[in-house]
Amino acid sequence: MLNKDAKEEVLIEGELLSQSLASLTSWHIGGIAERLYYPPDVEKLSHYLNTLSLEKPITWLGLGSNVLIRDGGIKGAVICTRQLQELYQQADGSIVAQAGVTCAKFARFASARGFADAVFFAGIPGTIGGALAMNAGAFGGETWEWVEAVTMINRQGQFTKRSANEFDVGYRSVRSKQGQPLQEAFIEGIFRFPLRQHTEGKNSIRELLRKRSSSQPIGTLNCGSVYRNPPGDFAARLIEACQLKGHQVGDAIVSPKHANFIINLGHAKARDVEALMEIIEISVLSQFGIKLFAEVKILGQKED
Ligand SMILES: Cc1cc2nc3c(=O)[nH]c(=O)nc-3n(C[C@H](O)[C@H](O)[C@H](O)COP(=O)(O)OP(=O)(O)OC[C@H]3O[C@@H](n4cnc5c(N)ncnc54)[C@H](O)[C@@H]3O)c2cc1C
Repeated sequence: MLNKDAKEEVLIEGELLSQSLASLTSWHIGGIAERLYYPPDVEKLSHYLNTLSLEKPITWLGLGSNVLIRDGGIKGAVICTRQLQELYQQADGSIVAQAGVTCAKFARFASARGFADAVFFAGIPGTIGGALAMNAGAFGGETWEWVEAVTMINRQGQFTKRSANEFDVGYRSVRSKQGQPLQEAFIEGIFRFPLRQHTEGKNSIRELLRKRSSSQPIGTLNCGSVYRNPPGDFAARLIEACQLKGHQVGDAIVSPKHANFIINLGHAKARDVEALMEIIEISVLSQFGIKLFAEVKILGQKED
C-alpha cells in the first residue's frame, strides 16, 4: 500500500505522487504508484535518478502492455519512459530509437527506409525499451537479432553504452552474461538491419496486423500472451485442452478466442487475474505435468 509518509517528502521536479497506474497498462489494472515520473529527456532523467534517495526502489514502465500491477500498488518510484521519443537514422545506416518510441512507429520508420526485417515490430504494442527488456518478438522476428548496441542508465543516473554481446539473450529474456537480472535500464537501442527493399513495408505491416486480429482478441483489455510457450509446445494449446477457454474469476476471463490471453471485462482486479492464473497453472500441471511460466511481469504489492 501507499507509503503514508509520501506526501511529506520533498517532490522532485516533474514527479507526481499517489498516481493510479491502471490507465497506464493495457489491462487497465493496477494500484497506486507512490511516485510517478515521466522523464521529458534523458538529461532530466539522469538528474532525477541522481536526486532520488537510493533507498527508493525503481520500477520501469513503457506502455504497460506486458505487466500485471497488483492492487496494492508500487512502492518507490515508477519511471514511465513514454516521452523519450527520439528516433533517427545515423549516417552509417543504423537506426537509433529512444526507450519510449513505440514499436509500431519504429516499424514504420525502419520499413520506410528499406529495412523489411523490422516489419515484425508493428505487431508488438509496446515501446522499444519494453521490447529490449523482454526481447519481444513476433512472426519469426526477435528484437535482439537486430540490436548492435544499447545505452543504459544506472541507479545513480550514469549512462553506459553496451554492445549486444554483453547480454545473455533468450526467448523473452535478457540478462547479464552472468545470468543475473539487469541492474540498469534501457535508454536507447541502436539497430542495424540489412537493406531488403523487396518487401513493400506498408503492405506487409497491414498484412501482419490483419493476420494478428484474426487469431487474437484485439480490441479487448489484455496483456498479450500471459505465459511463455514451453519448449516444443504452446501454452494456448495446453490451456485450451484443459477446457479453460471462457473460464472466469471476477471480471477476468480466459479469452474464448485465444487461450493464452486473459481479458479484463471491465472491473477485474489483479487478484482476479492471479487467481485465474493459479487455476490455469494447476490444471496444466496436473493434466500434462508441464509447469507454465508467466511471460507477463507481475509488479507491486498485493492488497492488504
Ligand atoms: C495485444 C497484445 C499483443 C502482444 N503481442 C506480443 C508479441 O507478439 N510478441 C511479444 O514479444 N510481446 C507481445 N505483447 C507483449 C508486450 O507488448 C511486449 O512484451 C512489449 O515489448 C512490452 O513493452 P512495453 O513498453 O509495454 O513494456 P511494459 O509492459 O511497460 O514493461 C514490460 C517489462 O519491461 C520493463 N521495462 C520497460 N521499459 C524498460 C526500460 N526502458 N528499461 C528496462 N526495463 C524496462 C518493465 O519493468 C517490465 O518488466 C503483446 C501485448 C499485447 C497487449
